[in-house]
Amino acid sequence: MVVATWGASVTGFELLAHADLSLLVKAGVQWGLFGGAVENLGTEHHHELIPRIIDLRLPGCFAMTETGHGSDVQSLGTTATYDADTEEFVVHTPDRMARKDYIGGAAQDAVVAVVFAQLVTNGETHGVHALLVPIRDESGQPCRGVTIEDCGWKAGLNGVDNGRLSFGGVRVPRDALLDRYASVAADGTYSSPIDNANWRFFTMLGTLIRGRVSIAAGAGAATRTALTIAIRYGERRRQFKAPDGSEVVLLDYRVHQRRLLPKLARAYALAFAQNELIARMHDVQTPIQTGGRPDEHAQRELEARAAGIKALATCHATRTIQECREACGGAGYLSENRLPELKADTDVFTTFEGDNTVLLQLVAKELLVGYGSEFAGLDTWGMVRFATRQIAETVVERTAARDLIQRLIDAARRDDSSELLGRGWQLSIIEDREQHLLDTLARRLRRATHDNADSFAVYNAAQPHVLRLAVAHVERVVLEAFVASIDGCPDSGAAELLGAVCDLSSSSTAGSPPPVPRQSPRPWTSGASGCVRAPRP
Ligand SMILES: Cc1cc2nc3c(=O)[nH]c(=O)nc-3n(C[C@H](O)[C@H](O)[C@H](O)COP(=O)(O)OP(=O)(O)OC[C@H]3O[C@@H](n4cnc5c(N)ncnc54)[C@H](O)[C@@H]3O)c2cc1C
Repeated sequence: MVVATWGASVTGFELLAHADLSLLVKAGVQWGLFGGAVENLGTEHHHELIPRIIDLRLPGCFAMTETGHGSDVQSLGTTATYDADTEEFVVHTPDRMARKDYIGGAAQDAVVAVVFAQLVTNGETHGVHALLVPIRDESGQPCRGVTIEDCGWKAGLNGVDNGRLSFGGVRVPRDALLDRYASVAADGTYSSPIDNANWRFFTMLGTLIRGRVSIAAGAGAATRTALTIAIRYGERRRQFKAPDGSEVVLLDYRVHQRRLLPKLARAYALAFAQNELIARMHDVQTPIQTGGRPDEHAQRELEARAAGIKALATCHATRTIQECREACGGAGYLSENRLPELKADTDVFTTFEGDNTVLLQLVAKELLVGYGSEFAGLDTWGMVRFATRQIAETVVERTAARDLIQRLIDAARRDDSSELLGRGWQLSIIEDREQHLLDTLARRLRRATHDNADSFAVYNAAQPHVLRLAVAHVERVVLEAFVASIDGCPDSGAAELLGAVCDLSSSSTAGSPPPVPRQSPRPWTSGASGCVRAPRP
């Protein structure tokens, strides 16, 4: 067993993002996705591969997505059918929609793929599992039965060799199955420590959370690089004369400040939330590194938080880097100034490692059902049915500096005259907003229990509401992390400045008119990220 320092690995990844994003993604595929799958889904004999994965003697890829199914991984079409006579799995791509698509490393470098496929033993399907499948031989040619294509030129990340993989009855030995959560005996008997197939699937995916946390970290670093370039340029570039004849520095224009400085403040806010997320991931998942299992409640809470912060951080990256490029005029369009590359290379962060819209629904689901293990296996409809039985009366537990935040909120609620920039008031309205969205959504989903109700139609109609709730929740997590960081800042001058940055971030997060849900307990509610433009519920 290799004991890695997970928090440090994500921080290292974040630093790499300041340099080259194709290199970042190549590293992420090799060590994070491929290595991470072997480490987290495999057992001892798979772990023997880890030293060769670390020093690149064994380049690999992570083949989950298919042409037909990306976000909906449970519907993958690739099959791995066990043949008890030879004690092998037969990996097969039944049709074009089931070919593996976009796979980083597949087009050129990878020699082994972690392939996600429907596992079939003794005629029974057990859902999606992962297997190690060799795809290239020693001369670099595709292995027998494996077809490899290059995805070609992309909008960005062209230093990454994304490819497509198809398997024509490729045979791999029984021990190719990454069997931490399920194994197949020689006679084809399937067994798993987790009975519920849905829960098993999400447990497997949950162990791969580091990739999502890493992408959020990389997005944050790239955004800060872009802001640094644009703000420094804005401090030097002069355009148009003032009445005294001197040329005006761009950043002296109020509108230029408003384009960049709130986004800078937001970058700080997200960075604090990200740091907290990395520390939490490190703590929660440490037991995995020594063969144990993380606390279930903490793991589920971590997954929701990673999904939400990834969605907001990557959305912020896309919008901010575009604004930075425009703020530099023509110079922002030149490759030598890095902004076009940063823009192109981070664009895909919003849809890979989990599409943001899909991830935000996962966040909302966790809020609706709470974190009880009995709900871990619920699919969307199970969640809708559950939410109809109870109005989730608690907003998820406080995320950081619990006591301090409660004190600030209590003080603000006692004193109605507290100011807009009062921290307690900011915390209080953002919490009220989340609670209101949660209560109203739960009530709305209750309609699914009416006789002859069409659950899909009820959920579908509420989907914009679902996304808004998720964003409101993550906004609270972000603000609480900021408040905790200010509280922990040892330098009083820096803490004061951070306080001003926090005010700017929390009062200008929207970038679009602040949403005012009906029956809001406050006249104004703190802004949504603007990532998800949803009508008011
Ligand atoms: C450069 C690049 C590298 C990649 N690398 C890898 C890799 O190494 N390995 C790998 O396995 N995959 C990889 N992927 C695939 C990536 O993870 C998928 O693109 C991603 O999961 C989204 O899947 P999809 O493309 O099928 O989009 P879809 O799932 O089809 O989504 C399309 C749109 O529909 C929306 N949508 C989907 N479902 C819902 C819903 N329930 N409600 C509302 N809206 C919905 C989404 O928000 C999105 O806007 C890579 C992709 C790219 C572009």
